[in-house]
Amino acid sequence: MAYFQALFDRICGDLQRSTQEMSSDFLQLSTNQQRVSYALSIPSVHSYIKVKPMFKGKSAMEATKLREFGNKMFGQKDYDSALQMYSESVLKAPFDPNINHPVAHGNMNGSSHGRAQCDKNDVTADDGNEFSLALANRRVSAPLPCQKCSTARYCSHECADLAWTQYHGVECQYLGLIHSSGVGGMGHLALRLVNRTGFHFLQEFERTLEDKISRKVNEPQKDAQDRNSGNTDYKNFPGLNDEGVYTNDYNSVYNLENHSSERKPSDLFRRTVMAIFLLRILQNGGFFRVPAEEVAEEDQLLVASYLQSEQRGRHAVAAQDIRVGDVLIVEKPYGSVVLPEQGDTHCDYCCSCQPCAENWPLFYDMVQDLQRRNKLPKLKCRQCFSVLPGSEDKVLNKMKCAACGEEQELQVQRTQLDSIVDEVFTKVGVVVTGEVESSLPALERCLERMEKLVARPYGYYDSCQEAIKQCYGIVGNCYERTTS
Ligand SMILES: [Zn+2]
Ligand SMILES: [Zn+2]
Ligand SMILES: [Zn+2]
Ligand SMILES: [Zn+2]
Repeated sequence: MAYFQALFDRICGDLQRSTQEMSSDFLQLSTNQQRVSYALSIPSVHSYIKVKPMFKGKSAMEATKLREFGNKMFGQKDYDSALQMYSESVLKAPFDPNINHPVAHGNMNGSSHGRAQCDKNDVTADDGNEFSLALANRRVSAPLPCQKCSTARYCSHECADLAWTQYHGVECQYLGLIHSSGVGGMGHLALRLVNRTGFHFLQEFERTLEDKISRKVNEPQKDAQDRNSGNTDYKNFPGLNDEGVYTNDYNSVYNLENHSSERKPSDLFRRTVMAIFLLRILQNGGFFRVPAEEVAEEDQLLVASYLQSEQRGRHAVAAQDIRVGDVLIVEKPYGSVVLPEQGDTHCDYCCSCQPCAENWPLFYDMVQDLQRRNKLPKLKCRQCFSVLPGSEDKVLNKMKCAACGEEQELQVQRTQLDSIVDEVFTKVGVVVTGEVESSLPALERCLERMEKLVARPYGYYDSCQEAIKQCYGIVGNCYERTTS
C-alpha cells in the first residue's frame, strides 16, 4: 500500500479507537486553517507524519550499463532505443562540474521522435503525469539532467537553473517520496503550486483576502459601490484581475472551483491530513528558508491551508491572458479526465455528468471494454444522428432507425469508422514529432466525423480528443482555428 494511504489508515484507526468525536467536530469547521489546526491537534497526526528524503540519485555503474546498452542498440541501427538508453544514461551519470554534460550522439537527432520533454513549465511532468498548467513543453532529444537526482530533466542549463530556484530545489530530494506516497498527481500539483508561488507571496495574498473580507463585513455599501462602479462588472467575478483579465497568476488559480462544499467529511479530513503531509515535505525541503523545526506554527497553518485548497479537480489554467468576452476553445469534458488512483469514478467528487451517471468505462479501459464484451461500437443513424440501439451487435448488418425510419447499412458505417480511426493514428504518429499545423485540423475533422457516426463511450473518440489536446499543448493553447 502506498505510504500516504497506510499513514492515513493508521490515523483513522487510532481515531476510531479513541473517544474523539471526529466527524461532528470536524464538520463544524468552516475554514481550511481551522481544519488543519484541528488535525494537528490529534496526537497521531503529529507523531505519524514524518518525512525523510527519498529520491533517485546518481549511479556511475548504472550510467555505464545504460550507455553500453545504448551502444549495442546503436550498432543494431535501432536509433530510437539507442537514444533513449543514452538519455537514461545521462540522467544517471554523477554530476561532474569539470565536464561538459554528455549529450546523445549528434547524428541521432534526425532519427529521433523527440520523446523526452523539458520538465520546466510542466507542473508535475517529472512524475510522468500528463496534465500541466503552462502547456509549452519544449521537446528535446537529449535531456539535461538535474545535478542531484536522476528524475528531473531539462532542455537547457537555463531551464534547469530556473526550475531549481522556482521549485525543484525544494522538491528534488523528496520526489521519490512524493511519487511513491500515493498522494497522486493532484497532491503533487497542490504541492507544486504552493511551492512555486512562494511563502512571502502567500502571506501577502492572505492579507489581501482578509482585507476584502473585512471590507465586506465593515463597509458593505462602499464595497458594493466599488464593485459596481463604471462597467467593471467583472470585479464581481472571482479570479479576474482589476482589468477584467483572467491570467495565469495565482489569483486566477486560487479562484478555481474546488468543490469543497460537495465533499464528504471523510474526504475533507483526508485532504487535510494530506495537506499536513505535503507541508512537512515543504518544511524539510527548505521552502520556508529556515530549518524545519524553526517554522512558526501560524506559518505552518497558513501554508497547509493553501495546500489543502489547491487540491482541486483537473482544471486548465490560461497560459495566456484571457479577456472577458474572449472566445475559448474548451476541451470537451471527460475526453481523458480520468484519475487512475480514483478507481471507479470519472470525477474526484460526486457528480452527475454523463460518464458518471451512465457509468462509462474509464478511458484506459474503453477499447478493451468493447473487446471483452465482444461488441462493436454503437452507431448513430446516418440521417438523423440518433443512437441506434442494438447496432453494437456483431451479427447485425442492417437495421431501421427507430426515430426516422431510415434504413441503415451498418457494415458501411463500420468501415467508415475504421478508416477514420486509421487516420487518427496516422496523425498521432505525426503529432509525436511535434508537427501540429496539418495534423491538428485533420484530427479535428476526424472528431467531427466520428461524432456523427458513433455513440459514446467510444475509446478511439477519446483517443482522438487526447491527440487534439496534445496538439494544443504543443502550441501552448495559442492555436487559432481556421474555418474548414
Ligand atoms: Zn526547457
Ligand atoms: Zn533533482
Ligand atoms: Zn462525473
Ligand atoms: Zn434516424
